[in-house]
Amino acid sequence: MASVLWFRRDLRLRDNPALLAAAESGPVVPLFVVDPVLWERAGAVRQNYLVASLRSLGASLGRNLLLIHGRPEEVVPRIAKAAKADAVHIAADYSPYGQARDARVGTALKKTPLVRTGSPYAVAPGRVTKADGTAYRVYTPFFKAWLQHGWRAPADDPGDVEWWMPVGCQGYPSPPELDIALPPAGEDAAWERWETFRATGLADYAELRNRPDIAGTSSLSQYLRFGEIHPRSLLTDLGDADEVFRKEICWREFYADVLFHNPSSTTHSLDPRYDTIMRWTKGKQAREFLEAWQTGMTGFPFVDAGMRQLRDEGWMHNRVRMVVASFLVKDLHLPWQRGAEHFMHMLRDGDVASNSHGWQWTAGCGTDASPFYRVFNPIGQGEKFDPDGDYVRRYVPELAHIPGSAVHQPWNWIDGYAHGYPEPIVDHAHERQVALADFAAIKGR
Ligand SMILES: Cc1cc2nc3c(=O)[nH]c(=O)nc-3n(C[C@H](O)[C@H](O)[C@H](O)COP(=O)(O)OP(=O)(O)OC[C@H]3O[C@@H](n4cnc5c(N)ncnc54)[C@H](O)[C@@H]3O)c2cc1C
Repeated sequence: MASVLWFRRDLRLRDNPALLAAAESGPVVPLFVVDPVLWERAGAVRQNYLVASLRSLGASLGRNLLLIHGRPEEVVPRIAKAAKADAVHIAADYSPYGQARDARVGTALKKTPLVRTGSPYAVAPGRVTKADGTAYRVYTPFFKAWLQHGWRAPADDPGDVEWWMPVGCQGYPSPPELDIALPPAGEDAAWERWETFRATGLADYAELRNRPDIAGTSSLSQYLRFGEIHPRSLLTDLGDADEVFRKEICWREFYADVLFHNPSSTTHSLDPRYDTIMRWTKGKQAREFLEAWQTGMTGFPFVDAGMRQLRDEGWMHNRVRMVVASFLVKDLHLPWQRGAEHFMHMLRDGDVASNSHGWQWTAGCGTDASPFYRVFNPIGQGEKFDPDGDYVRRYVPELAHIPGSAVHQPWNWIDGYAHGYPEPIVDHAHERQVALADFAAIKGR
């Protein structure tokens, strides 16, 4: 009997347990539903990346990927019925939207089972708990328990699967044209990137991963986001080596776990006291600050370079993500949610769990152990992690004439503002004091 394999965040054939489960009973209908809700949320960068990834998956399936546009609770039962499928197979989705959607689809399928095999994580959210069964809120103990829990070996190769399309395909969605060169999408590209990074980048990862001026990280985040490669495959290749890289993979798993246990934390602060700060910048000033931040015109070179990297590449280095996030919340006093929305719109790796909790960690209302006192110095961070100024000059051409690390302080350079770069929109030392006072006020509550 035929079955349906409904692809979502798992756009690959290798190490895909749901595919193995589907292929057990006979022909497989490989379905991708273009859900209007998710499509709208994705923004132009992820829309373009998704289409490229789907084209790659379609090619691996011998052009058999069945693309249907519509609400999943209508489309999936219709296709299951047309195929007379004995089951619909999926990898479990643990995001709040994914959980609600899958519950609706399960109900709409009536007697046809919706079978969950695997997830986008090495260890599914909810599996790692404290001895008393409650969830972890701090990363390091979670990491230890996660390591101890361990993960399954990668799934076998599915062999020759009989792909089948019982109805006509509706074709790829059309994203808006993009002025950004995205990395190659798809499973083969993901593996190629991983093999290259393993051979040439992994040994220096611990030393270079905080340097945005150097390509010292894996650049795998979009592949993990769309499931073109599974983290379990990476962890298996790593073996016991490379603790630092494994820890980064675990951050992704930790945030998925935190979101699973706190579904409202996509938009609400994990620490509810935080949402009561009254001194957020408001009105026209707030709009001007947000625009200066989004367009990379704050007058703080390291912040502006990061925001322009995001605009130009749909990606930003992790160290700079932390600095621009801290700047938005603690220097401009804008709520973290405004920044998280912009990131989700722009990032090619935009992922609701890593993004919301990356923001909350930096803002000081999330999972960090001692959150309130960390205010990143946007100048000092630039001088430390972009010591020769190359990162800033790459993205901020108005400062290209300033040599070395002097680029981080154009106000000290004789013709620092000769090419139209703006002066700082705030005084960091002062705003830092304001932020600390705000946090001190809510701490006692
Ligand atoms: C404010 C903020 C927002 C973020 N938003 C996202 C997001 O939407 N999507 C996303 O994938 N990551 C997000 N991150 C985490 C991190 O910045 C990116 O995963 C990383 O920069 C991707 O580059 P890479 O693949 O070269 O990372 P590497 O350093 O090579 O790390 C390997 C993989 O580990 C995971 N990882 C590494 N660091 C983190 C982290 N701090 N949190 C979660 N996972 C991590 C990613 O899957 C990454 O691909 C955010 C971080 C911050 C501070």
